[in-house]
Amino acid sequence: MIALGVESTADNLGIGIVTSDKQVLANILDIHVPQEGGIHPREAARHHSENMGTAIKKALDTAGVTGKDIDIIAFAQGPGLGPCLRTGATSARALAAYLGKPLVGVNHCVAHVEVGRMATGAEDPLTLYVSGGNTMVSGYESGRYRIFGETLDIAIGNCLDTFARAAGLEYPGGPDIERKAKLGEKLIPLPYTVKGMDLSYSGLLTAITGELETGKHSVEDLCFSLQETAYAMLGEITERALAHTGKPELLLTGGVAANKRLAGIVNDIAEEHGAEPFIVPIRLAADNGAMIAWTGIEAYNAGVRTPVETSHVNPNWRMDQVEVPWRS
Ligand code: AMP
Ligand code: MG
Repeated sequence: MIALGVESTADNLGIGIVTSDKQVLANILDIHVPQEGGIHPREAARHHSENMGTAIKKALDTAGVTGKDIDIIAFAQGPGLGPCLRTGATSARALAAYLGKPLVGVNHCVAHVEVGRMATGAEDPLTLYVSGGNTMVSGYESGRYRIFGETLDIAIGNCLDTFARAAGLEYPGGPDIERKAKLGEKLIPLPYTVKGMDLSYSGLLTAITGELETGKHSVEDLCFSLQETAYAMLGEITERALAHTGKPELLLTGGVAANKRLAGIVNDIAEEHGAEPFIVPIRLAADNGAMIAWTGIEAYNAGVRTPVETSHVNPNWRMDQVEVPWRS
């Protein structure tokens, strides 16, 4: 069986083609880089609609298949930015109708976990999913992915990217901050906000931006302090959830999983708790179409269908609202 997956929840347009025996035949990525400032939902959506046809054609060519070979069309139904989601959903509906193939709506956060399991061989991990728009610790329990901890305001990637913009660093900010942090030496005191199992990054962002504006610190020390504080918070909630659930595996995914310092923290936590660590490779960890295609196959094989009447997008669709029949 072959699935085509459409990912368009935010700034990445992704088209993936995946088989039921876990072959990623194509994973085309087309990233919208804003002229200035952060992501503008309608501009990103326009980018996606302008490039959708080309991306689909490229994916089919790369995979060496035609539309007739595709068995199902999967799309990210939420969570994400409304205009971006609608662009992907509209294309997926049109493609499914044109090819006469079933449509499967997929939860973006569930897809990150599912492709992480597929790519690493992890079976039942606790997952730390950290990206531009999401920050959460989740694990499977009784038919659903439960969220054990999450950000109460902005995502870690958003915090990094916003600071990077203020400091004149490259966009997106994560990689440049990581490079500069390696040269930092001084730990500037910053707000460390963990509330129970949740955390908050808006106070940290305000504080680090304030420290930047004083002109008293090197950009290396600022990046070092931001990383150390932000990742220590992630480490704390992840460790607590791992101890609470007793999961045998710890999976790190999302675009921020590319960060070596964070991966080191995750490895240390896993080791201390006798869990096996897995870091999802970046092409499948960052937003991509293959994760949607793969999760579409799992869902479809477990009987999930998304008729056009219920295929409206849901920008606030939480992963703990999704039934996961393929794992029960
Ligand atoms: P995603 O939303 O999953 O596509 O991931 C994008 C986010 O990953 C952006 O906020 C990037 O700044 C962040 N990111 C990418 N590479 C790194 C890195 N090496 N360290 C930290 N964050 C990163
Ligand atoms: Mg993204």
